[in-house]
Amino acid sequence: MQNNSFQQWLEQSALSGGSQSYIEDLYENYLEDPDSIEVSWREVFNSLAKNTAVLYQPEQAHSPIRNYFRRLALEKSPKGVTVIDPKVGERLTNVLRLLNAYRYRGHLLADVDPINLREKPEVPTLDYRYYGLTEADLDEEFDLSDHVFNKEKMSLRELDDALKKTYCGKIGLEFMHINDLDARIWLQKRMEDWANNRHFSLPEQEKLLSELTAAEGLERYIGAKFPGAKRFSLEGSDAFVPLIKEIIRQGAKQGAKEIVFGMAHRGRLNMLVNVLGKKPAELFDEFAGKHQGNGTGDVKYHQGFSSDFMTDDGRVHLVLAFNPSHLEIVSPVVTGSVRARQKRLGDDDHRKVLSVTVHGDSALAGQGVVQETLNMSDARGYTVGGTIRIVINNRIGFTTSFPKDTRSTVYCTDIAKMIEAPIIHVNGDDPEAVAYAARMAVDYRALFKRDIFIDLVSYRRHGHNEADEPSATQPMMYKKIKAHPTPRQVYADRLINEAVINNEKATSFINNYRDALDRGECVVEEWREMSYDRVDWLKYLSQEWTSDYESRFDVQRFKALAHCVSQYPETHPIHSRVEKIYADRALMAKGEKLLDWGMGETMAYATLLDDGYHIRLSGEDCGRGTFFHRHAVLHCINDGTGYVPLCHLHDKQGHFEVWDSVLSEEAVLAFEYGYATTTPKTLTIWEAQFGDFANGAQVVIDQFISSGEQKWGRMCGLVLLLPHGYEGQGPEHSSARLERYLQLCAQHNMQVCIPSTPAQIYHLLRRQMLRSVRRPLVVISPKSLLRHPLAVSAMEELTDGTFQNVIGEIDELDPTQVKRVVFCSGKVYYDLLERRRQNKQTDVAIIRIEQLYPYPEDEVRSILAEYLHVKDYVWCQEEPLNQGAWYCSRHNFIQSIPEDASLRYVGRPASASPAAGYMALHNEQQQNLVTDALTL
Ligand code: AMP
Repeated sequence: MQNNSFQQWLEQSALSGGSQSYIEDLYENYLEDPDSIEVSWREVFNSLAKNTAVLYQPEQAHSPIRNYFRRLALEKSPKGVTVIDPKVGERLTNVLRLLNAYRYRGHLLADVDPINLREKPEVPTLDYRYYGLTEADLDEEFDLSDHVFNKEKMSLRELDDALKKTYCGKIGLEFMHINDLDARIWLQKRMEDWANNRHFSLPEQEKLLSELTAAEGLERYIGAKFPGAKRFSLEGSDAFVPLIKEIIRQGAKQGAKEIVFGMAHRGRLNMLVNVLGKKPAELFDEFAGKHQGNGTGDVKYHQGFSSDFMTDDGRVHLVLAFNPSHLEIVSPVVTGSVRARQKRLGDDDHRKVLSVTVHGDSALAGQGVVQETLNMSDARGYTVGGTIRIVINNRIGFTTSFPKDTRSTVYCTDIAKMIEAPIIHVNGDDPEAVAYAARMAVDYRALFKRDIFIDLVSYRRHGHNEADEPSATQPMMYKKIKAHPTPRQVYADRLINEAVINNEKATSFINNYRDALDRGECVVEEWREMSYDRVDWLKYLSQEWTSDYESRFDVQRFKALAHCVSQYPETHPIHSRVEKIYADRALMAKGEKLLDWGMGETMAYATLLDDGYHIRLSGEDCGRGTFFHRHAVLHCINDGTGYVPLCHLHDKQGHFEVWDSVLSEEAVLAFEYGYATTTPKTLTIWEAQFGDFANGAQVVIDQFISSGEQKWGRMCGLVLLLPHGYEGQGPEHSSARLERYLQLCAQHNMQVCIPSTPAQIYHLLRRQMLRSVRRPLVVISPKSLLRHPLAVSAMEELTDGTFQNVIGEIDELDPTQVKRVVFCSGKVYYDLLERRRQNKQTDVAIIRIEQLYPYPEDEVRSILAEYLHVKDYVWCQEEPLNQGAWYCSRHNFIQSIPEDASLRYVGRPASASPAAGYMALHNEQQQNLVTDALTL
C-alpha cells in the first residue's frame, strides 16, 4: 500500500501523468524492499518519508534523478514541491527509463555473435519511442549529471547512441539481476568505461594478435601433421587463449600467486601448449603413440599440467586439473583444490589463489552438477572467494545445436543467475572485448569475492572431433562457418585497417610460430621452470599398503587430550542429551568407562591434530553426525553459537574443520577429492548421511577416486565414511552398496574397510595419515554399533594397539573343538557373537575381516593356522547374495582356507532391492541367517 504523503507528492510533482504508474511500481518495490530499487530513487523515497518536500543533499547528489529533484527542491515552496515545467520532468523520466532499459536488456541486442547465428529478439523497450519520446525530442538536452558517460548534459540522440555503443556492442552484460547495489554500480561503470575509452596499447594489441596466431597455428599444425586424429580443436573459439592469458596477467595484478584451471577436452591441447608451456614435441610424441608414463594412463586431452608463468606483477603458479570426459565434474574438484591451497597459504581473503573453470554451453545448461557447484560457491565451508567461470559457447553439443533441444532458457548461462553472478557475453571475434571481459571479471572477483561468468560466444570450426562431419547435421551453420574468416584473420585485418600493423608483420607472426613448433620447444615466452615451494608428494610415491608406521600413542598425552575434547566452557550450556554424552566422554577420559565409537573417532582426530596434522570433515549433517554420535560442534542453548572442542587442544595443534555440507553428494565429494589430492597432510573426510547416498556421487567414485592414480598419477588420501547396516530401516537406509566399491578395487587402488570397534576406527583413521600411503579409504561405518554395549574399547587398545586387518576369535574357545569357522564383517558379527554366547556354543569360531581390500591374506592365514583341521567354512553377510562382499571377495576367502575345505555362503537370498521394507521380513531374514551360520 502506498501512503498518503507519497500520493500527494506524486500528484503535485512533475512526474504525474504518463510516468505515474512507473513511479508507483517503483514505490511499491521500495516499500517492500528499499534495496531493490535504484539508489537515486531510493534516496528520493527516503527523503520523502522524512519530509513531504524533497530535500536537497548536495554532498550525495550524483544521479540524474537526484539532480532533477535538486532542481525541484531548490524551487520548492515551504509546504511542498513546486514544479517549473511538468513536461520537462516527464520527458526526463522517460529518458531515464530508456537508460534503465538498456542496462536491463541491452545485452539482448548486443553484437556478440561472430557468425550471426543468433536471431536477435524484438526488444521494444530499447526504442525511445516506446516511452512516448519522438524524433522531435532527439536534440533536446537532458541533465543527466556527470555520472552517466561522464557528461553533465546529453541530448537524447547522444544518449541513445552512447547506450547502443555501451550495452549493445561486442560485450553484452547481464547484471541488473544482482541485488548488491555496489556490485551493480561497479559493473555499470566498467561497461560505460569500456565503450568510451581506449584500453589497449599498440604492444598489447600485437600481443593479442600473436596469441590468436598461436591458438590457430597449433591446431592447423596438428591437423596437418596428424590428419583425422582427435584433438578437439579450439578453432572458432581461438580467443580463449588470449582470454586465459589476460586472466593470468590481471590475476597477478590483483595478487594471485596460484591459479587452478578446470576444463573439458575442447581446446585443452591449446591450453597445454600455448598457456601452460607443455613442449609441443611431447605432445607430438603422444600423437605418434610414443609417449608412456606410469600407471595405465589417459588420453592426451584429459591430461593436467603444472607450470609457472611470469607476469609484470610477478610469477604465478598455474595448474590445469586432470579430468575425465564427464563434462562439468571437474569444477568442484578445482574449487576443492583451490580451497586447500588458500588454507595452506593462509590466504583468508582469497587473493592469492584464484580458481577458473571452463564450461561448454550445452553441458553448462544440461548437467546438474553445475547447480550443485554454484550452490556451494558462497557456502562457508566451500567458498574460495569467487570463481571465474568461462563458457566456450560454440552453440553446439556434439551434434545438437537447436536451442529448443539443448535447454529451456534464453541463454546457456541463465543458471548463473541463481547465485546472482554477473554474465559477460562477449564476441569471440573481438580479442580486445574478450581481454576487457577478462580484466573486468578478475577485478570483480577480487572486489566482491563472488563468481562471475564470461560467455565467450564463438563457434566450432570442425565437427565434435576431427573425424566427424558436422555438415551432415548442421548444414546451415557450417555453410556460415566455412565462409567466415578465422578470429586471427578478423583481428589481423582490423589492425591492418587501423594501421596498427602491416601485412608483413601479421604474416611474420604465423611463420615464427610455425618455426617454434618445428623446434618442439616451449612456445610460451612467459613460461618458467616451476620454482614454487610445493608440497612434497615424493615420499608417498610407490609405497606398499603394508608399510610400517608407529601406531602407539603416549598414554599421558592421550589422557590430557581426551580431557580436552570432553570439555566446554561453563558459559556455553548445551542440550541435556549432549551434556550426557560429554559427561560420559569425561569418564572415558579418566579411564572410568570404556570408550565408545564417538570417543574413539574423536580421539583419532585429537591425536592427529596434536601431531600437527590437519583434519577436514564435511558431509550432510556431519557436525552432529546423522546418528547423534559425534557432536563435534556443541550448540549453546542460549544463543545457538557453536563451540568445537577439537579446535581448543593447544596452540600448536593442526587445524580442525567440520562442515555441514550443502545437500549434495556429487559436487561435495568432488570438492573433497580436489582438497585431498592437494594436501597430503590433511585428513580429508567425506561422510555420507547414509552410505547409499553416495549413489549421487558415483561419477566421482568411478572417475576420480578409484582410478585417478592409475590414469594421472595423482595420489589421494580421501576417506569416505559410509554408514551401513541392516537394522530394518528399509531399502534406502541399510546398504552402503559395499559390492560397488569392491568391484572397483584392483592394483591396490584403494582400501575398503569395515571397522567393528571404537579402537578400530581410531586406528584406521590415524593410519590413513601416519602411514606414508595416500590412497582413498572407503569405510563402511556403522549405525547401531555407535551405541552397541559390546562395541566398546579399553583405552590401552587405542594407545597401545594398531589397526587389525583381521580380528580372530575373542572368546576363549578351544580351537581343537571348533568345527566351523565363520568369516564376517561389520555389525552382523555382534549378532553372531550374542547368539553363540546365548547358545553357549563352543564349536564355531568367528573371524572378522576388517579390511576387505587389499585383502590381508597373510594375516587371515596366520589366524586360520589354529583351525587347519576345520573343513567347514562359512562367509556370513547381512546383505543379499548378489550384494555385499560375497561375489567380489569370495576368491580371496577361498584362497585362505585349506584346499580340502569348503566355503559356503550364508546371508539373505538374492534381491533386487538392497533390503526389505517390512520390519517383520527383515527380522525373519536376520534370524535365519544368524541361525544358519551357527547351526552345524
Ligand atoms: P601443483 O601445485 O598441483 O601444481 O603440484 C605440484 C607438483 O606436485 C605436481 O606437478 C606433481 O608433481 C606433484 N603433485 C601434486 N599433487 C599431487 C598428487 N595428488 N599426487 C602426486 N603428486 C602430486
